Amino acid sequence: MMKINGESSWTEGTTKERQEQCRKYAQEYAAAYRAKNREQLKENHRKYYRATRDELLAGKKEYYIAKCEELKVKRQAYVANNRERVMYKARMRARRLKEQALLAYGGPRCVCCGETEACFLSLDHINNDGATQRKIHGSGGRSYSWLKTHKYPPGLRVLCFNCNLGRHINGGICPHEKIGEVQ
Ligand SMILES: [Zn+2]
Ligand SMILES: [Zn+2]
Repeated sequence: MMKINGESSWTEGTTKERQEQCRKYAQEYAAAYRAKNREQLKENHRKYYRATRDELLAGKKEYYIAKCEELKVKRQAYVANNRERVMYKARMRARRLKEQALLAYGGPRCVCCGETEACFLSLDHINNDGATQRKIHGSGGRSYSWLKTHKYPPGLRVLCFNCNLGRHINGGICPHEKIGEVQ
């Protein structure tokens, strides 16, 4: 027979009471053991983690790759089933991005001829490095979103397509300003 703290023994009380008491002691014992061996347990855990780290990470990576694929399939299905809506939203987003960009670069008005129709307006790289810039961050909508995420860096201005193109085929100066040599 075993007495603990003089409270109870393995033979007293009903089976259920003994089981209950037993569970309580086991919990107390485990808690006391953990408190006493805290550092050692931590170290064990660290060792275990180091030993299985790569395996764990590989598992996680696989999980995320699988999850990523799953999400991709879902997204594609959504796009296929909601084509109209998705296209409409994309158009709205592109329009909004363009409006914001035009506002950030002096407003929706061609700085050369004064054209205000948004459809005719675009951004022009003042230093004529548009081709290089487009290689970096894409053209059109992608460019507008790139500019937004980069807080609209200087070096651009609003020009209409006429003035933009006129400038490029006229040696860098819009024909409105000066009729140059046509290349
Ligand atoms: Zn213009
Ligand atoms: Zn012009």
